[in-house]
Amino acid sequence: MKNKSYLILYALCAIILFLTACTPLKKPETETVPKIDTNILSAHDDKYKRGHNIPGKLYWAGSAEDKKIALTFDDGPEEHWTPKILAILEMQQVKATFFVIGEQVQRHPEMLREIFDEGHVVGNHTFHHVNLVKAETEQVKQELEKGASIIKDVIGKTPKLVRPPFGFHNENVDAVIYAKKDIIVLWSLDTEDWQGFDSRTVKDSVLSKMQNGFIVLQHNGVNTHLGGSVESLSDIIIELKKQGYAFVTIPELLEIEPYEK
Ligand SMILES: [Zn+2]
Repeated sequence: MKNKSYLILYALCAIILFLTACTPLKKPETETVPKIDTNILSAHDDKYKRGHNIPGKLYWAGSAEDKKIALTFDDGPEEHWTPKILAILEMQQVKATFFVIGEQVQRHPEMLREIFDEGHVVGNHTFHHVNLVKAETEQVKQELEKGASIIKDVIGKTPKLVRPPFGFHNENVDAVIYAKKDIIVLWSLDTEDWQGFDSRTVKDSVLSKMQNGFIVLQHNGVNTHLGGSVESLSDIIIELKKQGYAFVTIPELLEIEPYEK
């Protein structure tokens, strides 16, 4: 009986080995351009509702009444994407809002000056792009103050608009920001441009999701995957203008002050 059990065991092993040998090796994933997961994007839709705005303190979107939208660019300034984006905005006569990282301003003050001089609005994206939710209160304060201070050194104005890195914030972070009378600006439409989508994908995604009052999140950071996004920018602006949208800055969209007086 015992021998028979062994025989069955050997037979099973042989079958498993045979099947394994016959199964072709799984091909490595060759897809380099990820597809937008529309389920993930729609799952986020709820929190982008204007109903979650806290007037004067926190905004996800502008009014649904007017056909106005605001482009925002995070993580700059740097020298590769920023000049390309500025040239497109200039050509299309569009003013946007740039949420800049303090240490990037330190590296490229001339780029920030150019952004400001060309009429765009500058907001604070912390000094080191830290996850503020994981930071102690003192560090949250320092990140915001150092970020604001270096922006003031370059453009002569202290920003009041804050975009927490990754959009991560909690009651503690909010309390620090509100105590300074600064304003949190999140977004309504995430292009997820950092993922390296091709221009067509970015364009289709933005055009299909756009609504009145939307704040669009894009990037101009040190990132090699923004080619498709930057390439799509002109087409997106031209098409949305055709649809009657006006491009405005965040303070115009939300009717708030961008800088300390
Ligand atoms: Zn960022």
